Amino acid sequence: MGAKVAIVGYGTIGKRVADAVALQDDMEIAGVVKTRVSFELSVAKQKEYPIYASDQKSLSLFRGVGIDVQGRVEELLKRTDIVVDCTPKPIGAKNRESLYEPYKMKAIYQGGEKASVSEVSFVAQCNYKEAFGKNHVRVVSCNTTGMSRTLYALHQAFGIKRARATLVRRGTDPGQVKRGPINAIVPTFELPSHHGPDVRTVIPEIEVFTTSLVVPTTIMHMHALSVRLEKEATTKDVLDVFANTPRVRLVKAWDNVHSTAAIMEMSRDFGHPRGDMMEICVWEEGVGSYHDELFYMQAVHQESNVVPENVDAIRAMLEITDDPEESMKKTDESLGLKRWW
Ligand code: NAD
Repeated sequence: MGAKVAIVGYGTIGKRVADAVALQDDMEIAGVVKTRVSFELSVAKQKEYPIYASDQKSLSLFRGVGIDVQGRVEELLKRTDIVVDCTPKPIGAKNRESLYEPYKMKAIYQGGEKASVSEVSFVAQCNYKEAFGKNHVRVVSCNTTGMSRTLYALHQAFGIKRARATLVRRGTDPGQVKRGPINAIVPTFELPSHHGPDVRTVIPEIEVFTTSLVVPTTIMHMHALSVRLEKEATTKDVLDVFANTPRVRLVKAWDNVHSTAAIMEMSRDFGHPRGDMMEICVWEEGVGSYHDELFYMQAVHQESNVVPENVDAIRAMLEITDDPEESMKKTDESLGLKRWW
């Protein structure tokens, strides 16, 4: 019997976090909470996750169509040690006020919420210890997590004077049909885009400035980064750092991995659940320097890269271990991620 975890919001992120939690030997799923009827409820039932409704209306709706529902979210909270809130923004912040604080419940929020929803903005390999024993922690967005993983590794190895990045963002997730674009490239008229300041909520000491645009793809984001380092580093030095960084994977164009589509195909071929790629993929051939500036390109699987962070945030907040490496190794081993240790 491990820590009892409730998942509130069982969509793209919530269902993946639930499956990851269920794989841990020190955690178990107390229940998952949904608002609407969808096939995901049948999947949850098949996985034997207890199902709860977000309110009375959903409870009646679920019962009306014969869904085996245990009750309302408030009942679940009484038998839970921690909540992972995976609802769309700003419902997490509202839930903090109306549910988690009244029930004195520790809660993890996702990257769509403002940083002010929590005490700590979290990426395990950057600031695990800051989340130790905390009550409210935000796992940052897929883009922020992706940049934080590689920038922090470079910063530790060589020091970063300043970082610049252009983010080419996917239009929507593969299962969604209501967002686009479907035939345009849409620049973000925000300088910096919110991603740079968001990275600084995790690693304040790195000066990073981002711009972004949205393109008609559903399968991954792509980041093009340029970084001025404090210490000199060859391309090989940088590749060695990435090769030894948790949750970062080097991919190679010579190995026929020449696009985000190829990464997804490779992930499916490896048999990763749902074809997910939780590691940030840095192209070996995309790493290089010009004068004192380092360039690299990385792909981010938006649906899955934050999943391991949620598992580690649970261990930190519940004080299961104060050792980031111990938690991350356990998480990564259970999820079949690269053996970096
Ligand atoms: P989603 O729409 O796929 O899933 C959200 C689920 O929450 C839906 O099933 C919705 O019905 C449910 N929900 C809504 N209100 C609820 C309530 N009051 N109680 C319980 N359930 C409720 O959204 P998502 O993509 O999983 O995003 C969730 C969070 O994760 C957001 O903060 C988002 O910014 C963040 N995030 C998303 C991605 C991504 O690419 N999808 C990546 C990283 C972080």
